Amino acid sequence: MAASDTIFALSSGRPPSAIAVVRISGPRAGDALKALAGKLPSPRQAGLARLRDPATGDVIDEALVLWFPGPASETGEDTAELQLHGGRAVIAATLAALSRVEGLRLAEAGEFTRRAFENGKLDLTAVEGLADLIMAETEAQRRLAWRQLKGLLGNRAEAWRQKLIQALALTEAAIDFSDEGDVPADVLWPALDIARELKGEIAAVLADQGRGERLRDGVIVAIAGPPNAGKSTLLNRIARREAAIVSPYAGTTRDVIEVHLDLGGLPVTLLDTAGIRTTDDPVEIEGVRRAIDRAGGADLVLWIEDPTRPLAEPTEKPAAPAVWRIHNKIDLLPAGCEPPFRVSAKNERSIGPNNSLGNMVNERLTARNEQLFSNTEAEFSISAVTGQGFEALLAALTRFAGEFLAGAESALLTRERHRRALQETEQALDRALKAKSEELVAEELRLAAQALGRLTGRVDVEDILDAIFRDFCIGK
Ligand code: GDP
Repeated sequence: MAASDTIFALSSGRPPSAIAVVRISGPRAGDALKALAGKLPSPRQAGLARLRDPATGDVIDEALVLWFPGPASETGEDTAELQLHGGRAVIAATLAALSRVEGLRLAEAGEFTRRAFENGKLDLTAVEGLADLIMAETEAQRRLAWRQLKGLLGNRAEAWRQKLIQALALTEAAIDFSDEGDVPADVLWPALDIARELKGEIAAVLADQGRGERLRDGVIVAIAGPPNAGKSTLLNRIARREAAIVSPYAGTTRDVIEVHLDLGGLPVTLLDTAGIRTTDDPVEIEGVRRAIDRAGGADLVLWIEDPTRPLAEPTEKPAAPAVWRIHNKIDLLPAGCEPPFRVSAKNERSIGPNNSLGNMVNERLTARNEQLFSNTEAEFSISAVTGQGFEALLAALTRFAGEFLAGAESALLTRERHRRALQETEQALDRALKAKSEELVAEELRLAAQALGRLTGRVDVEDILDAIFRDFCIGK
């Protein structure tokens, strides 16, 4: 598909809607707009136009039309925009009319942005920021994406790359001097100083503990525990909608259910795991395996228990950085029986050893269970059905997300790709600092600049360097 094609597409969301936006970009955008609207409006000013099918002359719709001559446009090319009534037939007729204009074709996914990138309107990090902005579900994600779109990372990377090029130029100068058999030691030092400083700055950015990536993905909270403890009921209460099937039969949640939440502006992904228990059912075994896997990778596990039931099987607790123990169904406990599993002295006799609930409660005090939760960080007693104790749990979750993502909005790196490119840059700088000859220093600096170039998508590193060195001469 030639980049010189003129492309068009519906840029707004799924019809029907009040308004639909169709964009056209490429050298024939102006002709296409004239073919449908009769004439071009003044650049960058909205004009009202009757759109007609050029083949039949039939009126399709009355629309606002905009004309952005390149290069001062979103894609850098001539661009037109039609703001139509958002009905399916209106959109279909408009797209059909455009497809009949010579030299026009439907755009592929991401092609408008790709052209903006190719025309130098956006670097790769900004393209990613744009994608993140469109996908952002919470305020914190939106702000992070916005800053990236506006060049928070891209500008920084470009500034680093300029410094690298400067260091490289100095190194090349040192090489030139050494050709003449007379190497002033102080020619290479400034280059190495720059490399050292850059390495420090990049290392500081890399030491962000992956916060930007985490903010993009959200804090992962797994709800786990034995079957029927009330995991799905709690998930639904937190998500305020019927996301998981709540069922009174054990083992119905056989896969991992994922719900994306906005807690105080922060993204949280809740996982409802299949009841973790010993079972012979192969489907359920798979569910349990996935549950333990997923919960093990979570940032926080809410381990739900039903204190009114005996622990049937020894349960395997997932290993996660933080585990909170949730005693659910407290609405079913008799007054005076306070979770966690403690019979208060004054009620001991009334629900005492002959009472089955008392027995269960006492069973739960076994050393095994206490050991299981030796690293529990917090305990909550709730009723997922009545909502008792729920607000305290939700507030604690919101606080946890806030602390977990503290500082994430100012993080520079939002993707593994960024981290890899910077790690490669840092490693090349490290090798440059240890190199034994000017030539090796130059080679490593060049590799460092290439790694940085991959970050922003400026792969033309060599060309830029060539241009610089053509103009850069010390006595030669
Ligand atoms: P899961 O298997 O752990 O996901 O458990 P569910 O959420 O499907 O709940 C199992 C059963 O316990 C359902 O009948 C729920 O209505 C019930 N249940 C869950 N939480 C509570 C609670 O706090 N109080 C009471 N009384 N029943 C609950």
